Order: sequence, then C-alpha cells, then structure tokens
Amino acid sequence: MNDRIARPSAFDTVNRLFDRAADLLELSEEKRTELKTPYREMMVRLPLLTDSGEQKIYKGYRVQHDNSRGPMKGGIRFHPEADLDEVRALASLMTWKTAVVNLPYGGAKGGIQCDPSELSDLDLERLTRRFTHRMEGFIGDHEDIPGPDMGTNARVMAWMMDEYSKFHGFSPGVVTGKPLELGGSAGRLSATGRGLFFAVERIAPEIGIELDGATVALQGFGNVGYWAARFLADAGCRIVAASDVRGTIAHPDGLDVDQLQQAAEASGSIMAFEADGVRKLDRDDLLSQKADILVPAALGGAIHEHNAGTLQCRLVAEGANHPTTPEADAILAERGITVLPDIYANAGGVTVSYFEWVQNLQQMRWDAERVDRELREVMHAAYDDLAAAAQEFDIDLRTAAFVVAIRRVAGAARLRGMH
Ligand code: NAD
Repeated sequence: MNDRIARPSAFDTVNRLFDRAADLLELSEEKRTELKTPYREMMVRLPLLTDSGEQKIYKGYRVQHDNSRGPMKGGIRFHPEADLDEVRALASLMTWKTAVVNLPYGGAKGGIQCDPSELSDLDLERLTRRFTHRMEGFIGDHEDIPGPDMGTNARVMAWMMDEYSKFHGFSPGVVTGKPLELGGSAGRLSATGRGLFFAVERIAPEIGIELDGATVALQGFGNVGYWAARFLADAGCRIVAASDVRGTIAHPDGLDVDQLQQAAEASGSIMAFEADGVRKLDRDDLLSQKADILVPAALGGAIHEHNAGTLQCRLVAEGANHPTTPEADAILAERGITVLPDIYANAGGVTVSYFEWVQNLQQMRWDAERVDRELREVMHAAYDDLAAAAQEFDIDLRTAAFVVAIRRVAGAARLRGMH
C-alpha cells in the first residue's frame, strides 16, 4: 500500500472532520475531549538479535482509541516511518470507520518502526513474535483484534496468532487477515474493492448514473484498484483510463481489466499493456480524464486544491485513505461533484475482517457467496444511514459519515457510563 504515512496533519485532519460533525451534534467540550482521547497508548522496546549476529532495537506501538461499541480493531503496519502520532491518528479513524458501517467494534492501530524489506524471513518472524509477546496481555478476541496493514500480510498474522495462542490456547479470533488454512475468510483479498463497488452501485441511481455503460477512471491498479475495476467492469462499466506509479493508460472504448492485470503482473506496470487505440499519458493526467466515476485508489492527498478544478467526473469514490484534501473537498462540492468518502467507501476490508472474526468465534466457515451477500447488505445499509444524516443536516456525505459515527460512539459511551 502506498499512502504516504507519518503525515503530521493526519490527526489534525481527522479531528477537524470530527469537530465539524460534533458542532452539528452540539457535543459538549467534555464529550469531545473524551471521544478524542485514546483509551490506551503503548510503546514497546523490541530487541532483536539478527541472523547476521547484530543486536538491533526496534520500537513497536499500539494505540487503542475507543472500545465503547466493542473490542478494538485495526491494522499493524511495519514501516520505517511508523510512529506514535501516525498510529494515534489512524486508531481514531478506525473508531469512526467501524462505527460508520455499524460493526460492533472500536478502533485501534499499531506498528513497528522497521523496514520489512531489509529483514530476513527469520528476523521478521522473531520481531513479530517479540511484539506479540509484549502485547499479549492487551490484545485478544474480546479486547483488541489486529489485522494486516502496510508491510504486513497473512503470514505475519499467522505468526501473531501462533504466538498469542502459546499464552491463551488456540485463538484464531485474535487477529484477522489470516491464511485460509488458519481461519482466514473467503473474499478477504477482494473485499475493499468489492465494498467500494457496492457503495457505487448503491449511490449510482440516486445521482443519475446508469452503471451499465458508465465510464470509469482509476488512479492506482493495486489491490483496491484492480478489484474495484474488476467488479465495475462486470457491472457493465467501461474503464476508460487507469494509472499506476509509472503512468496513465487510456482507451475511449474501455480497457480490458484482465489484460491490464496480466501486463502488470508480467512487467510490474500496466504501462506495458498494448492494444489498438490505447493512449499512454503522464501519471497525473489520470485525474483530468473525462469519466462518470473517478476512483482514487493509490495514495493520500492525490486530489488537492491545485487539481480539483480539473476533474471531469460526476462521482469520486475514494478507495485510498484520505485521497482528497479538505481544500479540494470544498472545490468539488462547489462544482457539484459527489464524493463517497474513504471512511465509508473503503470499509469493505474491515467489514470482511469482521466476518472473519465472527466465523472464528463461531468456529464456522462461510462460503464466498455468503461473504459477498453480507458485505453488500452492510455497505447498502451504511449508505442509507449516511444519506439520511446528509439530508437531516444538509451536509456532504463525508461530514454525514462523521455525524453517523459520532452519534453511535457517543451514544454507546453514554449508556456504558464512566467506563
Ligand atoms: P497497492 O500497493 O496494492 O497498490 C497501489 C497502486 O497505486 C499501485 O498500482 C501503484 O503503482 C499505484 N500508485 C502509487 N503511487 C501512484 C501515483 N502517484 N499515481 C498513480 N498510481 C500510483 O495498495 P492498495 O492495497 O491497493 O491500497 C491503495 C490505497 O487504498 C491506499 O491508500 C490504502 O491505504 C488504501 N486502502 C487499502 C485497503 C486494502 O484492503 N488494501 C483498505 C482500505 C484502504
């Protein structure tokens, strides 16, 4: 995943959005302080004797932001820039994201400040196990459930589960994003793209877009971008432009998603794709391509005040985290472009993680068809909640998402009392 991390403003941005919604809800200062203040923050020292005999010290973090609505949920990233500030911002975002789609979870996030590409497999496993050992008293299937994020994957989750299980007995529900053989869920890999598709499918008729024949431009062709393209194309959309870190590729009749994927797999970039009528453009030209739907699925801050005026779409469906700056948001609103906000539109991943946890607790397995059906229900129901809040206060869907989330979290916290 490529969103730029350690952005100093991440926590401020989240809190600005929080305050805007809290104003509408006339939340007291005390309540705001309570909801913004993390429940628990941890920093741990992680010594590692590497394969090559060196002694290294790493730092690991876990911020547990809120547990009013259930156990806390959020990824673990292994990244050289991971630090407490960043993890704190992302933990609070998870509280609001899980509340928007009404999962019975609170929010958390964690990380180890390291470059996983510089670690041998054995060192990565040792470091993961050391971190899990430090955290084992604070995580758990009814306490805090980590999952994969930047620099971590199903294998890291398997090690975490195994290490935790040494202390607590076999506990597949302590982490999500596990390999299928260890209780992972069908449909996890495609979940974020599929959830985004369900969000687009739900809003399209409301804003007069007929998906069959609609045109789409996609920024980023990784996990989220590819699967979003796949499902949109299956629904009859034409992918008229797509980009990755190397450039943009466009075709007015639509690009074949499978062929693009094959080109990307074979050469590392969709730019290797060749066909009659294909145009190759600069990377940043993608955003100004004419299309009904624009899906930013690459990095944070992609749509900003200097390019928001050049967009030629009717709907922005945010696959990436925070791809639109607040300044760009205002420009898009003025231009009548609807935005499906990240906190809702890319929540399919955490929703299928929730399904994984449910299956683990019940010691059952759902087939892919059931996962899809339940995901569609969650995404459609959440859209209805957002639309109702947007209408109630006459606000955009991003602010509406925070209104819905804060109401749910503040309501649960009030009922639980001074917990
Ligand atoms: P990924 O690494 O699989 O793919 C990222 C893609 O973006 C690649 O095709 C890369 O070439 C491209 N890219 C990078 N910089 C670019 C640029 N400047 N212009 C155009 N393309 C560029 O990552 P991913 O898992 O697909 O995640 C994408 C975004 O979605 C990130 O912001 C991530 O935080 C967010 N997200 C991912 C998930 C998930 O489940 N994977 C869930 C929620 C949010």
